[in-house]
Amino acid sequence: MKRIKKSGPVILQAVALVAIVLSLSVASSRLWGGKPEKVELPAAFTLRAEMPLPEVAAVNGFPKKILQKAFSLQPGEARGKTLGDLGLSIEEAEEHLRKAHALGQQHSSKNWVKIFSKFALWFAFLPIAFYLVLRNRMTPKVRKGMLAASLLIFGVALGSDPNPMGTIKDTITLLGISGVVFPPRAIALSVFLLTVILANKFICSWGCHLGVFQDLLHRINRGKRDRRGTIPQWKPPFWLSNGIRVATFAALTGVAFLWAYDLIEPIDPFRVFKPAHLGIAGGIAVFLVLTASLLVYRPWCNFFCPFGLVGWLGEKISIFKMKVDYENCPKCDACVKVCPSTAMDAILYQDKVIPDCYACGACMDICPTDAIQFGTGRRERPTKEWMEIPKGGNGTQKPDRISVAA
Ligand code: SF4
Ligand code: SF4
Repeated sequence: MKRIKKSGPVILQAVALVAIVLSLSVASSRLWGGKPEKVELPAAFTLRAEMPLPEVAAVNGFPKKILQKAFSLQPGEARGKTLGDLGLSIEEAEEHLRKAHALGQQHSSKNWVKIFSKFALWFAFLPIAFYLVLRNRMTPKVRKGMLAASLLIFGVALGSDPNPMGTIKDTITLLGISGVVFPPRAIALSVFLLTVILANKFICSWGCHLGVFQDLLHRINRGKRDRRGTIPQWKPPFWLSNGIRVATFAALTGVAFLWAYDLIEPIDPFRVFKPAHLGIAGGIAVFLVLTASLLVYRPWCNFFCPFGLVGWLGEKISIFKMKVDYENCPKCDACVKVCPSTAMDAILYQDKVIPDCYACGACMDICPTDAIQFGTGRRERPTKEWMEIPKGGNGTQKPDRISVAA
């Protein structure tokens, strides 16, 4: 009964947050306006050997400079030539045109001012989050403030694109559909992966607007002290969440290469930041992801996101990561209980497979003996003596700081 009473305010806060994000996002996407940011690629071109090159461009609806790029022509060289004059088969000509057209479309669809602003702000924001985690200043209040700030800046104000998931999803689908890689996207993907490798999944932890949105909703359901769900929360086993994520990645890749189709696009939950483009499938996906976020930590990231999967692999070679100093660890399990996922359990008990850790700092903050650090180097192995301590501690912990319910 007490829990039911407490769940009312949680649901109200969550609904209010979603309503604020949606309404502000409508206003901000109108302000940015203009560029579509996503492009539809034509399934086939109309090409005949006797067609003059200017007609090829006109009939297929693309600018003449695409012809120049596709066939490496000098300005004006297209005039007076037919497709047959190029000495290519129709299939070869189509292949050249498809690639040049795809790259041209990608380039002209982007809002470069927004993209550069977003990266500049990421470079300013992520070091602040890094400093707070490193110095163990990421208290529950600060964490919620940082998540809210990230959501407002990178999601509401700067919109859905670019985002870490888009870089990998769109790279795979463009490669599958048109056989090309858009160089600026490859650069963005490399930058994101670098942040993952430098500091444990850091772009996901603090910079990805959909990631922080899910995170904030999950923590709204954990009250001020950010310790356990007011409405009971579930930590899914990693084999299940990662199994589904691997299958999603394989399906995305297979469908892009075999059927030239972007499987995630219709349900892309990043569209929560451009609500006018949500559509019915997108609306249902966003509703499910955001509702599930109250009960499960970052459901989209852990169950479906292709960047989540690649980032999890990148985490294995991260320079900064959560590490346990077993000499100071009283094995009280407070960190395991406060961790919103099963990551800390696996880190503390040295499981072979460690699930995604989002460097949220909750485990560091709760540790009564400061035995967890966000540091460099290999993770230590526990001593034999430590292994023999019963779970729940050896009595050296301060009980007031570890009253985390199971
Ligand atoms: S895993 Fe989550 S945080 Fe990372 S890119 Fe995907 S949606 Fe964003
Ligand atoms: S182990 Fe868990 S609590 Fe600790 S930083 Fe990672 S996700 Fe957060």
